[in-house]
Amino acid sequence: MTRYTGLIDQYRSRLPFAPEVRAISLGEGRTPLIKLENIPKDVGFEGELYVKFEGLNPTGSFKDRGMTSAVTQAVHEGSRAIICASTGNTSAAAAAYASRAGITAFVLIPEGKIALGKLAQAVVHGAVVVQIQGNFDDGMRLVKEVAETAPVTIVNSINPFRLQGQKTAAFEIVEALGRAPDYHCLPVGNAGNITAYWIGYSEMAGMETASNSLPVELRKYSTAAVVSGRPKMVGFQAAGAAPFLRGGPVKEPETVATAIRIGDPQSWNQAWAAQKESGGWFDECSDEEILKTQRYLAEKEGVFCEPASAASLCGALRDIKAGKIPNGSTVVCTLTGNGLKDPDIIVKGGLQGLIQVPAARSAVEKALLDRLS
Ligand SMILES: *Cc1c(COP(=O)(O)O)cnc(C)c1O
Repeated sequence: MTRYTGLIDQYRSRLPFAPEVRAISLGEGRTPLIKLENIPKDVGFEGELYVKFEGLNPTGSFKDRGMTSAVTQAVHEGSRAIICASTGNTSAAAAAYASRAGITAFVLIPEGKIALGKLAQAVVHGAVVVQIQGNFDDGMRLVKEVAETAPVTIVNSINPFRLQGQKTAAFEIVEALGRAPDYHCLPVGNAGNITAYWIGYSEMAGMETASNSLPVELRKYSTAAVVSGRPKMVGFQAAGAAPFLRGGPVKEPETVATAIRIGDPQSWNQAWAAQKESGGWFDECSDEEILKTQRYLAEKEGVFCEPASAASLCGALRDIKAGKIPNGSTVVCTLTGNGLKDPDIIVKGGLQGLIQVPAARSAVEKALLDRLS
């Protein structure tokens, strides 16, 4: 038995980190690939439907995969501070990995529209939290401007080392299945993650992709083929924040799925390349559909993800029903973040199943028997 020490140690030969580079890690990665059992029966799907539950990373989202690699590289280069714009999860991860590394994290978050759990994480890990009177896109623009002169390393997904860490999720899926799935569905905000998965799948198949933004001279790592074939990449956006469906930036993005409330995606070209090279597509889900799917998954399978994450399963189920994803396919949906980050959204949706009774045996028994009959 060797202790698992995070994805950089696990996949160093496939990452741009020389053996002597010290990994800044919290043991991220190795998240479960859960095979859904009740939902496929419910919808009459005879293929295999999996969720990659990234909410079980150390800070509760897939951003940890990108942050271990971005912070490892920043520290390796001698950086003393990192900065990011965030809808919440990037700031939580940046704050945690910066504290682990003993450096400073500056995070720019939009006023309101951030899940309380995520804000609490940034604060508890000691980040400098700058709340701006604007949305994520404004924050991203400001981060780029400030980083031109201030001695800080940007750890948003425009930092190519972020995607290098995130591509390892595709490695884990290929290893778990012994092959690539037929379809891989993801929620899309900045489109870094769909890009990262595509890089990962391509490298597992020993194939080239135009999606890789890491400068060629830094790609000193193995891309030896492990399997043949890559999945079709399918990206789902929230209807009120769907620039990939509109064909260009959306000015005032609006959605309950705050993690993907982004109007001007930073990985625009790379994500289009992933869609085209894979033969996949982009589509959108309404807020209502997203919240319904979040509850459906929690009730039917015992998996609680955040609203943005549910967009992947929401779209996948719709495409399965429409036959766009053929019956019998192997499908993986990434659940990007943990539902516990934003309990408010559930409470607001109504506490079905909550029964109030006097503190008396008879009353409790009656409540039980009413439900069992
Ligand atoms: C960041 C995030 C996304 C969007 O990922 P992109 O790489 O920006 O497309 C989706 N869901 C959750 C929970 C996130 O934190």
